[in-house]
Amino acid sequence: MPEKKKPAAKAAAAAKPAAAAKAAPAKKPAPAREPAVAAKAAPVKKPVAAPKAASAKKAAVAAKAAPVKKPAVAVKAAPAKKAAVAAKSAPAKKLPAMPKSAEVQAMPGTYSLVLKGARVIDPANGIDGIRDIAISNGIIAAISERITAPRGTRVLDLKGQILTPGLIDTHCHIYEHVTGDFGLNADMVGMRSGVTTVVDQGGPSALTIGGFNQYVVQPSASRVLCFISAYLAGGLLGHKYVDLYGPTGINVDAIVKAARENPGIVRGIKAHAEPGGYSRWGVESLKLAKKAGHELGLPTYVHLGTLWPEAAGVKVDPQQIINEVVPLLEAGDILAHPFTRYPSGFVNKDGSIHPFVLEALAKGVKIDVGRGAHFSFDNAKQVLAAGIMPDTLGADLHGYNIKFPDGGRWYRGMFTDTAEMEPPEAPMEELPPFSTPYGIHHTMSEMMALGVPLPKLVAMCTSNAAAMLGMPELGRITVGAPADISVFRILTGEWMLRDSNGVSQKATQLLHPTLALRGTNLQMTDSPLLPNVTELAA
Ligand SMILES: [Zn+2]
Repeated sequence: MPEKKKPAAKAAAAAKPAAAAKAAPAKKPAPAREPAVAAKAAPVKKPVAAPKAASAKKAAVAAKAAPVKKPAVAVKAAPAKKAAVAAKSAPAKKLPAMPKSAEVQAMPGTYSLVLKGARVIDPANGIDGIRDIAISNGIIAAISERITAPRGTRVLDLKGQILTPGLIDTHCHIYEHVTGDFGLNADMVGMRSGVTTVVDQGGPSALTIGGFNQYVVQPSASRVLCFISAYLAGGLLGHKYVDLYGPTGINVDAIVKAARENPGIVRGIKAHAEPGGYSRWGVESLKLAKKAGHELGLPTYVHLGTLWPEAAGVKVDPQQIINEVVPLLEAGDILAHPFTRYPSGFVNKDGSIHPFVLEALAKGVKIDVGRGAHFSFDNAKQVLAAGIMPDTLGADLHGYNIKFPDGGRWYRGMFTDTAEMEPPEAPMEELPPFSTPYGIHHTMSEMMALGVPLPKLVAMCTSNAAAMLGMPELGRITVGAPADISVFRILTGEWMLRDSNGVSQKATQLLHPTLALRGTNLQMTDSPLLPNVTELAA
């Protein structure tokens, strides 16, 4: 019997994973409201006037000659003395407005790159407005409404585009080769798609995490993290062979050991709660995954919606699954695929929202969209109408649900009894646009079409995702920290988006990534997963 966690399960207390209370080595509870403070605390140079100056003449000249120069310039460049001059000679009201909190200018002449004129949306720092960002050798040097790029500095004009902290895709499958054709190339999903951090959900296991580190994490331009599979087998061929995934294939000690040995990579445990598994072993697998997560102080990410067919002769009531799952969950755990078109998601057959979902949310359980082959506009509308907003937006791309330029492979989201994939209902090339997912920009566009505002969606892919990963240093733009930035465009027009059921939804705006920047690595998007913009714009 899953014992109820004491009534700390209240919405207010929900912010921190209760698991963190346990000896939690890796997990740092993400500070929900710290951003502004942190930004302020950053090493900001203020043009404070020290009352000792050189000649007033010089100062006056300087003030005249450089009307647009901001005080910060003088400050950094010339510590006490010159700053003092400037301050003295120029009356306060003549000075341009002081940069706010995180928005600081650094010494000119040291920038290697200036990103100009984008609308910067950085929810963690409370920024939504036109800003310039200067980068010096891969480090954010300044954020301000206007930065003058010294001659010779590389400048990218991003007018009309949206610039955000590096986007985080919280759900993808990128254990290339080892998980067979299920695993995509990490940079194809990441940097080349305008996303700087990608999180594999359940590909690597306790037995295969070493290879994941060596062959995926290390060589990738993208930051690669994972929720380690609860199963020793990991996500081989997308969990095709169901018999590998019962409780006998789980070893809690092995998970704990692997996670402790890879603290920079493993951010949680991946498990499933769906009719196929439930028909075979109830929620035993999930209980073991939770045990490991509990010991590690890491969250468990729970897949909802049918993955495997039910065992022969067993009929499962999908509503019963959530009844048994929710009591096992703690604050910080994640329910995935809330909008799934398959049974055992948030929406009951009669269209109502499963009451246990609300109970889960009340105790601080988080929601990841996990778009993949699950997305149903109808269910999404029901969930959103009930006032339930996802926290993060994993795109859940893998080798079986995307369209490759060569025709690709795809399936409809679950394996059949014979372990064969359901064939596509139409040949790949005949499928209308948007029939297959292509990344978090796609998911964001779908959510925008359902009325979710852009800044909220950016928060889901930045600060909220960073909190889910227990890495509050991510998902924000911080002066002095390595550059970690995504840029995208908003195309306007009229499109019919299609969900995994083939249901259409009109969209008038479509997000399309243009670049990703990590440190000194500037990547213009060129992923073969992305749709052709000229076709889209037509
Ligand atoms: Zn997945």
